[in-house]
Amino acid sequence: MVREIVASAPGKVNLHLGVGEARADGYHDLVSVFHAVDRRETVRLAVVGEPGAGPVVESMRTTFFVDRPGEDIDGPKNLAWRAVEAVAARAGVALPKVRIEVDKRVFVAGGMAGGSADAAAALVAANALAAEYGAALPPEALHEFAASLGADVPFALAGGTALGTGRGDELAPMLSRGRLHWVFVNPKIGIPTGEAFSLLDDLRHTNPALVPHLNTAELSQALTAGDATRVAAALHNDLEAPALQMRPVLRGLLEAAGEAGRRAVVSGSGPTVAVLCDDAEHARWAAEHLAAEFDGAEVFVAEGPDGGAVVERVC
Ligand code: ATP
Repeated sequence: MVREIVASAPGKVNLHLGVGEARADGYHDLVSVFHAVDRRETVRLAVVGEPGAGPVVESMRTTFFVDRPGEDIDGPKNLAWRAVEAVAARAGVALPKVRIEVDKRVFVAGGMAGGSADAAAALVAANALAAEYGAALPPEALHEFAASLGADVPFALAGGTALGTGRGDELAPMLSRGRLHWVFVNPKIGIPTGEAFSLLDDLRHTNPALVPHLNTAELSQALTAGDATRVAAALHNDLEAPALQMRPVLRGLLEAAGEAGRRAVVSGSGPTVAVLCDDAEHARWAAEHLAAEFDGAEVFVAEGPDGGAVVERVC
């Protein structure tokens, strides 16, 4: 019988993040262009018991290839844990107990949706386990679970480059040509996502320039043309203004990163800065340069677009 299932899912950067008005349910309407990069999370389900009733997750352990956060994230609230239990509950057959092992390569709370990638990888891994017991769920069920786990999880499942509307979870794939080469720099100055959104709401009362940027036509054309110079010019993030207001030191990093690369923007709600470069060599050089200049920041290179969540191995 199956002993181990390994799956992976990508981290992301928002090539565009337009934030609309706050909705009655507390979420903001978003117009987001997600772009998956080849910095991937790995989720392993190790079978540790016989099929039986009740919860399937026995324990979980995350191994950090990025800085370890202050909090212990290995518990039932972890998105990977919740994803596995969601699939198991719907499968309707007894599944064996599993231990979840996550290899974390995407910054924690960095604005690159690492937790969402864990959830997406866990969904496809758990579905592969259910398939071994003749109870695979259809893709629609996985998408439904993904959206209920978090607004960024459907994209981690899908990968590629996609337009996200609604909470960011209503996805349409976008055409793009060529590869984009990135450096990601995490200055580790923690920006709580909720605070960034509400500060943007406040700033909009007094600063008329901070209108919602909801038009992605130029970015879309630049991607279709495979023109990295145009893509660089079209990068935009409405959450950059509140991020800079909350953490003014970010300005120095953004400027230095923009000079080292072709263009730099805050990724998602930050604080990670995404630096678009000309090619892989330029990205390596910019990464070394920025790591030396910003002592203590975490830096890696990645390229995109990359694929969505996928089962790598069943054995
Ligand atoms: P986003 O870009 O979607 O805002 P993020 O990259 O900023 O996400 P994550 O690392 O995905 O942030 O998650 C942030 C918080 O979510 C953590 O501080 C932790 O409390 C909780 N969490 C739940 N599951 C996970 C997980 N699998 N990995 C990391 N954090 C998780």
